[in-house]
Amino acid sequence: GVAVRDREVRMRHADGSERHCLAAAERTRHLGRPVLLLTLLDVTERLQRDAQLQQLATFREALMSFVEQTLEEGFEGSFYQRLVEAAVRATPGAEAGSLLLRDDDDAFRFAAAVGYEGHNQPVGDGQSLQRAIAASLTVPIHLDGRRVATLTLDAFRDAHAFDEGARELANAFAAQAATLVKRRSLERGLERLAYHDALTGLPNRTLLRDRLGLAIARAVRTGQSGAALFLDIDNLKVTNDTLGHTVGDALLRSVAQRLRSSVRADDTVARIGGDEFTIILPEVRDADAAALVAEKLLAHLRAPFEVGGHELHVSVSIGVALFPDDAIDADVLIQHGDTAMYQAKGQGKDRFRFFTREMNRALLERAALEAQLRKALEREELTLHFQPRVSLLDGTITSVEALARWPHPERGWVPPSAFILVAEDAGMIPALGRQLLEAACRQARTWIDQGCGVIVAFNLSAKQLQERDVVAQVGRALAVTGLEGRWLELELTESAVMRNVEENVQKLSALRQLGVQVSIDDFGTGYSSLNYLKRLPASALKIDRSFVVDLDGDPASAPHDAGIVRAVVALAHTLGMVAIAEGIETPAQLAFLRALGCEQGQGYLFGRPVGVAEITPLLERGRIDLPDA
Ligand code: C2E
Ligand code: MG
Ligand code: MG
Repeated sequence: GVAVRDREVRMRHADGSERHCLAAAERTRHLGRPVLLLTLLDVTERLQRDAQLQQLATFREALMSFVEQTLEEGFEGSFYQRLVEAAVRATPGAEAGSLLLRDDDDAFRFAAAVGYEGHNQPVGDGQSLQRAIAASLTVPIHLDGRRVATLTLDAFRDAHAFDEGARELANAFAAQAATLVKRRSLERGLERLAYHDALTGLPNRTLLRDRLGLAIARAVRTGQSGAALFLDIDNLKVTNDTLGHTVGDALLRSVAQRLRSSVRADDTVARIGGDEFTIILPEVRDADAAALVAEKLLAHLRAPFEVGGHELHVSVSIGVALFPDDAIDADVLIQHGDTAMYQAKGQGKDRFRFFTREMNRALLERAALEAQLRKALEREELTLHFQPRVSLLDGTITSVEALARWPHPERGWVPPSAFILVAEDAGMIPALGRQLLEAACRQARTWIDQGCGVIVAFNLSAKQLQERDVVAQVGRALAVTGLEGRWLELELTESAVMRNVEENVQKLSALRQLGVQVSIDDFGTGYSSLNYLKRLPASALKIDRSFVVDLDGDPASAPHDAGIVRAVVALAHTLGMVAIAEGIETPAQLAFLRALGCEQGQGYLFGRPVGVAEITPLLERGRIDLPDA
């Protein structure tokens, strides 16, 4: 008796499929007779479309919120958990899900799971759990063609929970998630790179500072103390130079491993420079405990390393700084450790030194000296003293050596040994060298003008020789002072020339082209290769003072020195060079050298280095009276 509208009915189609229909029924008349008119509208496809649209909307929503969350929170700890949550939500029919990630060793390991709570049932002994799963969908996640993860989606009731559409959506989600996973691993990689050393995998300087800061803060808070050990490998350069960088790198990795295994797990081992490592011991009882660790490290490193078929020996110099006693600032502590490390190196390497206030004072003094030297350089206060070189036969002055002097307001005349190295370290050599070279040339020119011209020998520092344009610098000094090259001689120490022989042979030849003479200074103290020596266009060998000092006429008292001097004089002559003995102080030494055929000499016996005013009269006279032995 009631009209029916839009009633949903399910019917089976003749082809066997189930159909959703909207049914309408009404009484009416047909050909004068009452009939029931039943209308069926098949909405199966429309409903499916609606459901699909709904699923698609859910999928989009799940994916978008996952992406947004990731943008907001970054790739922190719960990233994989959120990924699985979103996948479950995005996939129609899915009630739970889990994710396995491929590790570095290619094994797949559990990363996250969602939705299994309450769906586990005890099996057998009640220990293991089995899940009551009706349907399961496995979705591989690929990244650059490689399977990096497997997502598994489960349903607990409906065995047909996952249809083709669900599979498609799950795969689409996996593809989107893969790009995020890629971003994550990239960022993780960058982060690793930013805080770790690529060669050894150890924390780098940035991370070290961070950890040191934390360790110091903790020590201050708890009243405990810690130590930082600063290690520098003593001879890595030799390995690199002789066996190549590949072996050097492998050695560094082995050293890193040995250090790592020599300390506790919660101690930090960092690589903070080419051959520098730092170890933080967050808790040490006292200085003695830190010393024990340093001793142990030295001992462990002494055992040879097997690298690329070579047996390599390594020693380190260690500086130890304690916190919070030595410093409560990470940077200051690092500086102190560095200072102590250099001290250890200076005292013979393969040892450790504690930082002390004394060291700091020395460092400060040195910094003050550097500042004063810089000022002196700006004001052109450095001057030259001159020491005569004479013929050992008759005392004729053959040349004078220019020796740098720094008139210091408090210290008086500061000798070059106290400032040339400081200047080299502080990068002042180019300016200082140029200034002094020009001064030497100018003085030589002045003596020529005064009618007592003499060859001036100038000490070229190792750093100056290394400069690319050293020849041009010398040319310029000659040009601006109007000096002919033959009045200038350059003294190069043996160790400086032998450092880079091929290049130096070229430079010295170019200097000879300018008419400039070259002599090898401090001969016998470096490591000369006779092969190279014979190729050097040098005109004189200066025998180092240390060999002359004990030649007091009694060969029996210094048999070796006498032998060495005799050999060096012979060597000079063989190579067509003149032999010049340095540091002659006694008539006996003079007699001895003269007897060996050494042509020239220099030393307090003939004259100390003196200022221009004092040396000029000597030059005018042209010779020095030799004492009779
Ligand atoms: P050097 O070139 O071997 O100079 C000789 C040094 O021995 C000078 O010391 C000189 O004063 C000293 N000496 C000379 N005769 C005697 C002696 O009979 N007995 C003793 N005990 N010493 C003697 P100085 O002037 O202190 O120079 C030391 C070193 O500093 C020089 O060694 C040289 O390598 C370097 N030097 C000096 N002036 C310059 C310079 O202008 N530039 C550079 N780069 N280095 C310089
Ligand atoms: Mg010299
Ligand atoms: Mg010398």
